Order: sequence, then structure tokens, then C-alpha cells
Amino acid sequence: MLRFAPSPTGNMHIGNVRAALLNFIIARQLQRPLMVRIEDTDEARNIPHKDQEILELLSAIGISWDQLVYQSANLPTHLEYAQKLLDHGLAFYCHCTPEFLEEQKQRALQEKRPFRYHDTWALLQKQSNPHPVVRLRGSAHALQFADQIKGTIRFEPHELDSFVILRANKAPTYNFACACDDFTYQISYIIRGEDHVSNTPKQILIQQALAKVLEVKCPEITYAHLPLILNYETGKKMSKRDAASSVSWLLQQGFLPQSVANYLITLGYSPPKEIFSLQESCAWFDINKLSASSARFDLAYLRHLNHRHLQNLELSELQTLLKLDHPQKAQLAKLFLEDSSTLCELQSKLTLMFSPKDITCDYEGENFYDRCATLYQALQTLCLEELADFQAFKQAAMQASQLKGKDFFKSLRILLTGQAHGIELGLLYPFVRTFASEILTLKDPHGC
Ligand code: GLU
Repeated sequence: MLRFAPSPTGNMHIGNVRAALLNFIIARQLQRPLMVRIEDTDEARNIPHKDQEILELLSAIGISWDQLVYQSANLPTHLEYAQKLLDHGLAFYCHCTPEFLEEQKQRALQEKRPFRYHDTWALLQKQSNPHPVVRLRGSAHALQFADQIKGTIRFEPHELDSFVILRANKAPTYNFACACDDFTYQISYIIRGEDHVSNTPKQILIQQALAKVLEVKCPEITYAHLPLILNYETGKKMSKRDAASSVSWLLQQGFLPQSVANYLITLGYSPPKEIFSLQESCAWFDINKLSASSARFDLAYLRHLNHRHLQNLELSELQTLLKLDHPQKAQLAKLFLEDSSTLCELQSKLTLMFSPKDITCDYEGENFYDRCATLYQALQTLCLEELADFQAFKQAAMQASQLKGKDFFKSLRILLTGQAHGIELGLLYPFVRTFASEILTLKDPHGC
């Protein structure tokens, strides 16, 4: 079984969704089940309803799962396993106070050596600190594991000192809860972000210890730690402060879920084609070909992919997504795709076109009020039903308004679209005829 294990403590980061996508693809390829495990053991940091938001996002992106588990439900098992490890001497109580440990850290810092926990400290403060934590005994031997993306990763014994598995309040740490659950559900393949590489030896040590006390074979797990996603400009890790790192932000900006999936699968990978669906990628994606270097998040390229996915939509899909009351408006939206790349951009163009036009404001630094007012009056005298094509309309409108050149065309564009720039007016004209009463209206200059 594979698992995707999000924490309901913040917005889904593009890195999380990338991990979810790859878990889904590999589970499909290996025909193994996929579990979504909501890692909600950190009560203080859990955000109410985030779990639902995560699940909705996964569904929107096209990721389905075979099993859904809330980690908090497994707390009794975590405690039972910790007790077994204590009983067998593979874990121990540590009474060190946070102050004592801080002192040791400072000393290590001053002496320019890495801080390591010494098992001999465990009972030094037994009298003064009645609330011990539980630590798993570290390893005297080096530990290495094969990572599908990064190759072999090795940790030396001095990096494997004893570490906390239960806090003083008996809450399991992330590493312990995670490793216990991976053990319980016989997770055989772990795909996650490379920020977890340093957790992996701890989780392996926990699983080895559990296998020993439960007298079962230690599970063999394939690991794939995904490289970081970097900010395109700064080259630094995409953090929560980068708006585009949040997938819900991207969707709110009008990127389609299928474009986000397409883009995240393409990161660090050379796909056989540019535009594809998640289902399609299951047929050819090869995790061994994923680049081991970090990838830059290129919003411009995502825009390009989104543009192409929007082009591929059926008119009825576009009508639904844009909540349009008339199927013909979806055709108009397709026209606007010439110079738009997101649903929001299309939406704002349509809204401007179907709203009363504001002719009092400046367009590209120039005021067209008089020219627009003249043209508007002239258009009122025309019968669009009789002017079947744009040429005929244009001539009649020029004649009636006595405007020509830029004065005519720019004013007409403003009256028809509410914008100073855009696609060819001739292409818009059929829609103007159909929806003239909605399009040819002016904003009340006193009402704004
Ligand atoms: N809850 C962890 C996270 O969201 C899970 C990491 C893992 O897959 O083990 O980063």
C-alpha cells in the first residue's frame, strides 16, 4: 500500500500536491491501494475543516484513494507500541528538562560541534522532573537506505542519537506516529518531499524496533524523496509566503485543476507530450526518470498549460465553469482565450463586456468621454438586426457618428468591451448583435 499523509495544519502546498499526484500514479502503476492519512496528531496546530479542504482539493485534482485514515484514531496503538518498546528496553524514559537540553545545545554550539543526546543524561534529573519523555534508543551502527531519486543515503552513528517518540504529555511525535502507522498499514512505498530525508532514518529505526518487539519481519520500504520546488525568481524554497505555493490560491486565480496536475507532473520530468491528463500520465510516467535537482516554479509556463487546457474544454464545460447563463457566451469566452490564460481573466473580460460601460474614466491615459458619448448616441439610431456583418455595421456607425480612425475604433472598443485593447472587433460583432441590450449600456456617471 502507498500513502499520502497531509497534515491539516495549513494550506496544501504545491509540494504536497505533487507528492499526492506521484503517490496516485505509482499506486495505479503497481496496482496497489492508496491511503490518505490525515496526520492530525498535533492538536495545537490543526486547523478546523482543513482536512475536508484537503480531501476536496485532492478530488478536484482527480486523485482518488482506497482508504481514508485519521492518525489521531490510532493513538491507542501508538501508546501500546511505545510501551512495548519500553518493556523491551528499546526505548527509555528521559527526565532531562528543556533547560538542561538547551544548555547542552549552547555548549555544543560554543564548542563548534553538533549537538548529540547522550543516553547517560536520561536519569540525571529524575528527582526534579517527574514528567519524562520517552526516547527511542539511537543506533550504534550506520544506517543507509536507497532512495529512488537521490540514490543511497547514509547516516553515521553519531547522527543517530536517541530521539523523542513520546512527549512529556504522552503525545507521540510526528516521526513515531508516522512510522507506527506506516508499520501498521504495511506501507511499502513512501513518496514525499525531500524535507523528510532526515526523518527517514528515525522512522526506519522505529520500524526496526517495532519489528523486533512484535517479532515480525521488518518491512521493506521503497523511498522516493521529491526535490524541492523553488521560487522562480529568488531560487529559494517556495514557502507559505509565496502565494503561488498554495494550490487553493492557484485554483482561485482561475487555473484549472487539470493544468495544475499537468504542471506538477512535468516538474523535473520530460513528458512525452505537453498536454496530458493525470489518467494518461499513469501509462508513461517513470519515477526513475525524475530529476534529482530542485525545480523552479514557473508561473508563466503554468499559464501556458492552462491556456491550452482551456482551449481543449468543451463549450458546455466552459459554460459551467464560468457560470454563464447562455451557451453562446461560452463561444465568446473561447474567443477571449486569444489573449487570456485563466478562468478569472476570461470572467473579467466577460463581466466588463456585459456591464454598463464607464466612459468617464481614462483609457491608457486618454479620455474618450466625448467620442464615446457621440458614438453611443449614433449607435442608438442603428438597427443592428439589419446590419448583418461587421463591415456594414462599421460603415453605418462611422457615418452616423462622424468619427473615424482611432477616434472611432477605440471608442467602439470601449463601448463594446469596456477595455482599450483586445481581440478583433469583427469577431465580437455577432455576439454584440445577439446581446446588444446587455452590451450597449452606459454606466450612470453619477452612480459610480
Ligand atoms: N504530515 C507530513 C507532511 O505533511 C507527512 C510526511 C510524510 O509523508 O511522511 O509533511
